[in-house]
Amino acid sequence: MSRVLIVGAGLTGSVCACLLRREMANKVKIVVWDKSRGTGGRMSTSRSPSDASCIVDLGAQYITATPHYAQIHHNFYEELLASGVLKPLVSLVEGEVVKVGGQKNYITPTGVSSIVKHFLKQSAGAEVLFDHHVTHIYRKGSSWEVSPKGRAPEQFDAVVLTMPVPQILQLQGDVGSLLEDSQRLLLEAVSYSSRYALGLFYKAQAHIHVPWAAKYISNNPCIRFIAIDNKKRNLESSECGPSIVVHTSVPFAMKHLEETNQQVEAIILEELNKLLPGLPQPDSIKCQKWRYSQVTSSVAACPGQMTLLSRPLLVCGGDSFTHSNFDGCIESALKVCDVLKSSL
Ligand SMILES: Cc1cc2nc3c(=O)[nH]c(=O)nc-3n(C[C@H](O)[C@H](O)[C@H](O)COP(=O)(O)OP(=O)(O)OC[C@H]3O[C@@H](n4cnc5c(N)ncnc54)[C@H](O)[C@@H]3O)c2cc1C
Repeated sequence: MSRVLIVGAGLTGSVCACLLRREMANKVKIVVWDKSRGTGGRMSTSRSPSDASCIVDLGAQYITATPHYAQIHHNFYEELLASGVLKPLVSLVEGEVVKVGGQKNYITPTGVSSIVKHFLKQSAGAEVLFDHHVTHIYRKGSSWEVSPKGRAPEQFDAVVLTMPVPQILQLQGDVGSLLEDSQRLLLEAVSYSSRYALGLFYKAQAHIHVPWAAKYISNNPCIRFIAIDNKKRNLESSECGPSIVVHTSVPFAMKHLEETNQQVEAIILEELNKLLPGLPQPDSIKCQKWRYSQVTSSVAACPGQMTLLSRPLLVCGGDSFTHSNFDGCIESALKVCDVLKSSL
């Protein structure tokens, strides 16, 4: 059995784990490490500290299937729809820019991280460990020695890196020296936008009176998007409080990137109260900085993955190698698994 480490429990990592489990169950032992304390990566769902049923999606908001991807990834969409993880978006999103005719939007009734959880569940038998921040990777003969911060290193026959490329380039050990000049140039050209997200959790009695479930805001120096998160998910109940998510514009985030979350939270709240005067007082607030939000320049002319070394295998995937959405991650995970299948 080959021992395969997948670094990152986001959508790309979870789909890789699921596909490996389905297609190579007898050949591989799958291990997933993530530096954070929970599942999802940029498809994360946060819970109110005082009411676990009051949730907010701080990253990805809804899944948009273009006719092209609805067809080529139909098995993924059908699986998620059949299990109730995805449902059609039926509420009003004001100001949405429809890039491709015939596209369909889907929401996640229990939060967007349920997509990632679904695929991790399907990789039953995989060892998934959080609070494992990979800092060093060394080549040791025919295997890789991988060190998580503050923990003992472990050996793997193959390693898959699924975090944004700027984070891959921060890894210490042998990764930097393995890169060919052409690969380094391609990876160093990758860029990401940054955004802040604010999640506001309310008590059950609170009411938010707006006609839409989500709205894109143009011409505001700070706020680009607001969603009444429970309404977007088509869940309005008298037992659970509403929740709001606010995304800032990219120029705002670039300007305030090195400030504390507390400082930025105050600015976003002030702008939100100007846009939606009379909002009730939230029960709690969470501010999230997405330093690497969505890829603005992905790896050029890339087949969805980049193999840094074939033996022992070290392969990179994720939205840096495609584009930043559900289908971009699925596309990359499929390509990474093709490489694993042909190498192990
Ligand atoms: C604000 C925002 C809005 C978005 N809106 C949408 C949307 O509406 N629809 C849509 O489809 N997509 C949207 N996206 C894009 C989508 O969320 C991403 O494309 C997708 O989640 C990327 O998944 P991934 O697994 O490739 O990467 P990630 O989700 O970033 O996963 C990588 C994982 O690696 C972990 N990690 C990083 N470094 C290390 C390390 N050294 N050691 C261990 N673990 C590590 C991270 O903690 C993370 O969990 C949005 C993203 C953001 C931020």
